[in-house]
Amino acid sequence: MHTASPATGSAGDSILVTGAAGFIGSHVVSELLARGHRVVALDDLSGGFHSNVDERATFVEGSILDVALVDRLFDEHRFAYVFHLAAYAAEGLSHFIRRYNYQSNLIGSVNLINASVRHEVRCFVFTSSIAVYGHARPPVLEEMAPSPEDPYGIAKAAVEQDLRVSRDLFGMRYVVFRPHNVYGERQNIGDPYRNVVGIFMNKILQGEPLPIFGDGKQSRAFSYISDVAPVIADSIHRPEAWDQIFNIGADRPVTVNELGETVSRAMGVPFRPHYLPARHEVLHTHASHEKARALLGFEDRVGLEEGVGAMAAWVQQIGARASKAFGALEIEKGLPPSWRDLLAAADRRVG
Ligand code: NAD
Repeated sequence: MHTASPATGSAGDSILVTGAAGFIGSHVVSELLARGHRVVALDDLSGGFHSNVDERATFVEGSILDVALVDRLFDEHRFAYVFHLAAYAAEGLSHFIRRYNYQSNLIGSVNLINASVRHEVRCFVFTSSIAVYGHARPPVLEEMAPSPEDPYGIAKAAVEQDLRVSRDLFGMRYVVFRPHNVYGERQNIGDPYRNVVGIFMNKILQGEPLPIFGDGKQSRAFSYISDVAPVIADSIHRPEAWDQIFNIGADRPVTVNELGETVSRAMGVPFRPHYLPARHEVLHTHASHEKARALLGFEDRVGLEEGVGAMAAWVQQIGARASKAFGALEIEKGLPPSWRDLLAAADRRVG
């Protein structure tokens, strides 16, 4: 096992951020630029927007699945650090797009790990997910054995393990974050499969009720982006945090009904739920963040009311976004009926 002491990030380091046109990635890019780093921002725009990326970053439109492109970028830019956030993070949908999920979220990650090992990257920062805990009893703690319940969580858990063995064999240092339900400005509110806060806001802008799977009593903790992105960006400056895993996000769980009420208030409309058949999902989950507090200085500062209010103001400026069905389903058996309706509507538009 390699035990060389780490050289921590200094201003001017060349850094690759993948998923950089996405929600969390674009905020991490801004944080890194503010700290004086040079940033190459890679994204295939499958879920993100070029307009999200700070103009001071070097934007490259391309996929982490394009090995030749990845190798070329590492050759050209000699990255000291990699922040890998690119993924298709539609957890519920991942059952029905298994191959797509494993290609994007597992093989894509392996392409970056291979290049990072070969190019002696100092630290590889990876956004995993609370999904690795599956049905574990909350509050979930980092030392619990992963037990994911869906292909998305399985891919994230596999990448975490691959980073651990890459550290042991090749000495490549890493930091793993397991965020949960982050929301805020620049989130893609048009994705009908993920990010309940954005889905609710988009529905309200379209004058529609809020779709809720089950009775809305399932609970989650929702984290505002400004509590999360700076901590991710700063992790390269904290060698005591390297080779470790951190939960990151808000402490206080709320039910989806409570969230719907908060979002409706922020958007200035009455709460109008549309209850759908329950889907296969973890009912209650939230995480302990003691480790991130102790080692990374994490603080859960922005309350739900305040964060949702800020996002609502932004959403009201950008307006509603068209939602499109994911076209290439690999399995339709067991698909929630509301997602089947989305597909049928898309087929009608094509036909
Ligand atoms: P996002 O969809 O806004 O960002 C992901 C970005 O990755 C998108 O811009 C997309 O275009 C890009 N991308 C996807 N496949 C790609 C590929 N093959 N090559 C290049 N780019 C590709 O999602 P986000 O919410 O910002 O999530 C960022 C990361 O954090 C993801 O890894 C996600 O799994 C993780 N995460 C997010 C949350 C959350 O609540 N938002 C929770 C847990 C984990």
